[in-house]
Amino acid sequence: MSDIIGIMGGTFNPVHYGHLIAAEEALNFLDLEKILFIPNSIPPHKNDPDLISGKHRLEMLKLAIASNPKFEVSDIELKRSGPSYSIDTVEELINMYKDKSFVFITGLDAVLNCEWHRFDDLLEKLTYFLTIERSGLSFESLEKKMKPLKNREKILFLSIPGVNISSTDIRFRVEEGKSIRYLVPDEVSDYIYKNKFYTKNKESNSPYIGVR
Ligand code: ATP
Ligand code: MG
Repeated sequence: MSDIIGIMGGTFNPVHYGHLIAAEEALNFLDLEKILFIPNSIPPHKNDPDLISGKHRLEMLKLAIASNPKFEVSDIELKRSGPSYSIDTVEELINMYKDKSFVFITGLDAVLNCEWHRFDDLLEKLTYFLTIERSGLSFESLEKKMKPLKNREKILFLSIPGVNISSTDIRFRVEEGKSIRYLVPDEVSDYIYKNKFYTKNKESNSPYIGVR
């Protein structure tokens, strides 16, 4: 086992099997020590009316990873005020775990569609930046975007047994009363229904923090 820790950031609104498969594949591919799942506080590129509070997204993550001893959740981005930039998170983790190194794990969509804050600096601090296949997107488009980067060799690609699951689809399904079984762990769907997340009837004490 290496002394490299995997960082999997995201909104996790809610966590689903696509996230868990991607993390497990990354763990095995690089023989990582563990994976830290880090939910964002205010995603810089999202303005989502269905975004539920960090506390609940964190709780769903805890339920989802409970059976895997190499998966952990971290609330460092939720605790920090302001937008969650990956570079700040990586710098904080480097200070926390002095003798470890880090790989950032992200789906191909996130690399292609988001503007990354200080991406060059982020790459500098990481051992690897691992880009995971996401159904419907090709690695070739990424190749072009990454060519001019200084630490280009740190960017790795990993194909996984792709599942076309997204949190967006899960939120739609819940709203429309369709099944989400086998798309998220049972403990997560129980939590979603118990708390009435992603339904139209948003009550006054609702957990939604999204900007409308
Ligand atoms: P949303 O639909 O709300 O954007 P999402 O399913 O994309 O949700 P995020 O929380 O945005 O989930 O994603 C966190 C990270 O996990 C991102 O790097 C994303 O690319 C990756 N990811 C999410 N779903 C999958 C999947 N099915 N396969 C591979 N990677 C995934
Ligand atoms: Mg996404």
